[in-house]
Amino acid sequence: MAYTELRRWVRKLCQRFPDSYWQEKDEQQAYPEEFVQAMTEAGFLSVLIPEEYGGGGAGIGEASVILEEVNRSGGNAAACHAQMYIMGTLVRHGSPEQKERYLPAIARGELRLQAFGVTEPTAGSDTTRIRTRALRQGDHYLVRGQKIWTSRVQHSDLMLLLARTTPLEEVRKRTEGLSLFLIDLREAVGHGVTIKPIPTMINHQTAEVFFDDLPVPVENRIGQEGQGFRYLLSGLNAERILIAAECVGDGDWFVERATRYAKERVVFDRPIGQNQGIQFPIAQAYAHIRAADLMRFQAAELFDQGKPCGPEANMAKLLAADAAWEAANVAMQTHGGFAFAREYHIERKFRETRLYQIAPVSTNLILAYIAQHVLGLPRSY
Ligand SMILES: Cc1cc2nc3c(=O)[nH]c(=O)nc-3n(C[C@H](O)[C@H](O)[C@H](O)COP(=O)(O)OP(=O)(O)OC[C@H]3O[C@@H](n4cnc5c(N)ncnc54)[C@H](O)[C@@H]3O)c2cc1C
Repeated sequence: MAYTELRRWVRKLCQRFPDSYWQEKDEQQAYPEEFVQAMTEAGFLSVLIPEEYGGGGAGIGEASVILEEVNRSGGNAAACHAQMYIMGTLVRHGSPEQKERYLPAIARGELRLQAFGVTEPTAGSDTTRIRTRALRQGDHYLVRGQKIWTSRVQHSDLMLLLARTTPLEEVRKRTEGLSLFLIDLREAVGHGVTIKPIPTMINHQTAEVFFDDLPVPVENRIGQEGQGFRYLLSGLNAERILIAAECVGDGDWFVERATRYAKERVVFDRPIGQNQGIQFPIAQAYAHIRAADLMRFQAAELFDQGKPCGPEANMAKLLAADAAWEAANVAMQTHGGFAFAREYHIERKFRETRLYQIAPVSTNLILAYIAQHVLGLPRSY
């Protein structure tokens, strides 16, 4: 499907969920269930599943356009974006049985796989130091440990979990000895898994997850034991590109609101947008968004051609998150005091887009990646 037509379809759906819908959800810290359901029924969340499993068989370019339009409309695609990229790991590294078992049901909208347990309180960005252990005991593993910031876990049927299967001290490389598992939350919660929601500055439905000797069947392991980190990396580029697109959507939303307000608001007998002190920052933010957008499409093109795209995907996420944050600040400044009034929605989107300086990967860690892996500078960690 051409991007223009796809955009039109997504916009049409998003019109059913105006600013007031998102504001209400934000105030109640409630999951936008109706929106996610509508996205599921429209087939938007299964576009990346191959057609043979009932999905759309589309590329990351199309997927990214869908999420961009959600944020461009004033909504927040974070409520469902992980449904798109987590199952990429299953598509690329799952066994034929696992794919047959889960993908058609995910494509039909009967199963949600939108929780991803990587981050832990003590390890932070240093993923190889995670402590959650999966100990093999015959035909199953026993999982013990803790995750933090596992978003949407309360609204997901399945969770992709990264755990250590070989202790750090016993592996040659620290990226080895990690494995990925599919956890069936429908059975696990209350029987080895405890979820503790974390109240946050945005409506993100994120939580701590505790594992207390949870039995996980061996057939729920994705790919080979000990190779989980490698599988994880292959999914991260998709995640980076999709988040970059959401940031582009946010950026355009801020610029559109700032421009509109700058034309309407009259102070000192003229629209504030007539002052270059107001219009230049908006123009500058707009230019930065367009540049980030080019990097996002370059990364998407490489990804869809199956070519390496680590630098491009990381740079797209970095540039788009920065451009969105710049636009957010410009929209705040342009709206003056009204930026703080909830009814203008600027403060909500301002809070929401701030996340992308930190998650799913922080700006510093992207800069370290570019410095060390692209430019060959000495490793800092
Ligand atoms: C709302 C929200 C939702 C999230 N959802 C998920 C999820 O669904 N699943 C999941 O697994 N995780 C999730 N995360 C976790 C997120 O990926 C991490 O917060 C992020 O990767 C940063 O890790 P940290 O918070 O432990 O920060 P830390 O690693 O403690 O870092 C703190 C600061 O120090 C900087 N820093 C650390 N080391 C270095 C270094 N070597 N050089 C330079 N700077 C450094 C970082 O850039 C950061 O600014 C979520 C987080 C939030 C806030």
